[in-house]
Amino acid sequence: MQPSHPLDLIKHTLASGLPSLSVEQRQAEARLLGESVFKLPYSALLSKPADFFATERFQSAWANLHSLLEDRINNRVPLQYLLGEAWFLGRPFSVSPAVLIPRPETELLVEKGLELIKSSTETAMNTPFRWADVGTGSGCIAISLALALQEQYPNLPFQGVATDNSANALAVASSNAEKFNLTTEAIHFALADVLEPVSSDEKSPQSLDLIISNPPYISPALAITLSAEVLHHEPASALFAENEGFEVVERLIEQAVVALNPDGFLLMEVGSGMAKTVAGWKLTQSNFAVLSVWSDYSGHERFLTLQRKKKV
Ligand code: GLN
Repeated sequence: MQPSHPLDLIKHTLASGLPSLSVEQRQAEARLLGESVFKLPYSALLSKPADFFATERFQSAWANLHSLLEDRINNRVPLQYLLGEAWFLGRPFSVSPAVLIPRPETELLVEKGLELIKSSTETAMNTPFRWADVGTGSGCIAISLALALQEQYPNLPFQGVATDNSANALAVASSNAEKFNLTTEAIHFALADVLEPVSSDEKSPQSLDLIISNPPYISPALAITLSAEVLHHEPASALFAENEGFEVVERLIEQAVVALNPDGFLLMEVGSGMAKTVAGWKLTQSNFAVLSVWSDYSGHERFLTLQRKKKV
């Protein structure tokens, strides 16, 4: 027997079309699809009386839902690209296949950045506070950081730079910044390879207080382990890095040596098993103190907090 409620119908369709989805994922996707297609909050959707579903509004929405489900199941398009939106730290970011879909564990990076800023404000603080987000993608890190700084430190002047090597990604990121009312003074978006030319630009002195980044770090050899959603739809340049995934991280550390102020922080997300390796590198040891290697929600050591040693 066919389930009658549209949410059940969505769950049922997802379960038979994408059997690898967990019950929780199916539940979450059904909810997002239902809310978006019927333009109703979940509670209203759950409590809609049966006659709503016979209305014309429902019929036209259903056609749209049907084509989204087809794309989701047959082409394995990630739901966030189908809806054009992904949530990050409680805010809806516009996303397109030009940018990586923000991940929940990356929220930890922003939270750590804010903690470091808090500890710096308690001691000495350079004014304005200057930071860079390298490989900004949708802009989720830079924008969340800028909004949190505005909220938590209304009197602290700050200047952010968000770089990406993709002009299409930067277009998505700057439209997200506009959507959240951030000015170009708050975040300047720059087309750059890691931090070049930002770090060698004479007009922008090499005096960053914080560099934060979720760089591409997947080894191309691991491509076969990725889901079709990731491998066939997310931008390869945001996912993969040569040299077993370390190539961009290496350049990031080299450029950060030049761009950071003494005592400035470099905060990075890397792949499972990579953080300890990076912490052991000679370049890292000679120019940075490794303040911590820390874990994601599943207990994998995926993050590094480094602090630039004083220049000698
Ligand atoms: N900064 C973006 C994010 O964390 C994009 C990262 C990337 O493209 N590697 O989602």
